[in-house]
Amino acid sequence: MIQIKSVSKLYPAKGFAENESNNRNGNFSESAGVIRALDDISLHVTSGEWLSIMGPSGSGKSTLVNLIGCLDRPSSGDIWLDSLNVSGISSTELARVRAEKIGFIFQQFHLIPFLTAVENVMLAQYFHSMTDEKEASDALATVGLGDRAHHLPSQLSGGEQQRVCIARALINDPKIILADEPTGNLDAQNEEIVLRLLREFHVQGRTIVMVTHDPVVARLADRRIELHHGKIAHEVFSMADEEQLDEVLEEMWVLAEHGEIAEVERMEVHGALPVSLAIEKMIDMGFVVSTPHPPAPHGHKPFVNPCHEALKPVATSMGDGTMIVELTPRGRERAGNIIRRHRLAERLFTDSLAMDSESEIEQQACKFEHILSPEATDKICTFLGHPRTCPHGAPIPPGPCCGKSSEFSRVTVGSNTESQT
Ligand code: ADP
Ligand code: MG
Repeated sequence: MIQIKSVSKLYPAKGFAENESNNRNGNFSESAGVIRALDDISLHVTSGEWLSIMGPSGSGKSTLVNLIGCLDRPSSGDIWLDSLNVSGISSTELARVRAEKIGFIFQQFHLIPFLTAVENVMLAQYFHSMTDEKEASDALATVGLGDRAHHLPSQLSGGEQQRVCIARALINDPKIILADEPTGNLDAQNEEIVLRLLREFHVQGRTIVMVTHDPVVARLADRRIELHHGKIAHEVFSMADEEQLDEVLEEMWVLAEHGEIAEVERMEVHGALPVSLAIEKMIDMGFVVSTPHPPAPHGHKPFVNPCHEALKPVATSMGDGTMIVELTPRGRERAGNIIRRHRLAERLFTDSLAMDSESEIEQQACKFEHILSPEATDKICTFLGHPRTCPHGAPIPPGPCCGKSSEFSRVTVGSNTESQT
């Protein structure tokens, strides 16, 4: 587990003057003679998660990785690796934590030029505990370099040097792998080898934090963040995670349609993250806001989500939840789009494709709601003559293709939500 809390990293502007390319790009904020390489960053990486970090040059990616890797200390804020706060510990302790917990893979390899491949790996063993040449050779063999153990870095190709780097990163069996543009200097074939190795480490349960410029490479991760000027500008979850968040948004939409308030701990969402966790993420993403549970007594009517009935029997939750959650305008827009895709898909399957198995229609609609593009959704809507309701009678939120005639129902659903606040 990596927990970063309000971390900033300042460098003296003097160092910055030496780096002209960043100066030209203006990828920094500078005041009073300092460069704010990281600006009040908070981030949580769960154990076994694969996080990728993207962002323009100079946005603070390497600084962040180096802080997590105990190569440096933050100017302010806290960094926890498991239960240890590493932001204030001595350099000796930092080195110890680094050797025990972290494996580094750098774009520039950072191999010692006058040591052979196997000696480079053994050096990492030395810093950790004691050297073991057999183990170091075996590590090289697992990255396909069994026959290159006694070559110097200069006698190895870029891809081979990177694999020595990976063997070195893994030799002490670290829980955390930090990779700063690990495929930046590699040809396609070696890139594939390195990515396959990273995926193996992920499967083994190691935590991976990877900086990359390549959006395709970034997508291998569970989650992507983008840094701009030392801040997290954008966060994207992997497909599976996003779908889970969408399920919760959908549930909140249907509750609002029924005039019910959404309370965390009363909501039960099939196949999704624990709702409270999903809500936390969605608050961070600006889809949802929460308010404390009202002291005034209020009832909860049981209701049936007509579109999910086939798959998910409605649980009758008892009692009051901890807090009330509401969709923000952004959340409402996203939830409305999911519902629209789902209900249009149901119409399509029922009316045009004459599918009659409720559960088949439901299953397919649950898939379509995540994959239809806005264009395809509008085409289906137009093809079906802009239907107002799904086959179960629930309203279909109108889209841009529906014109003014449907404006009324959009306002109705929106104000429904408002009236509960
Ligand atoms: P990235 O990896 O996203 O390209 P870095 O983390 O390397 O960005 O750098 C972020 C900012 O901090 C840049 O403006 C860079 O010039 C500055 N910086 C990084 N390291 C130092 C340093 N040791 N001394 C001074 N400035 C630095
Ligand atoms: Mg960098």
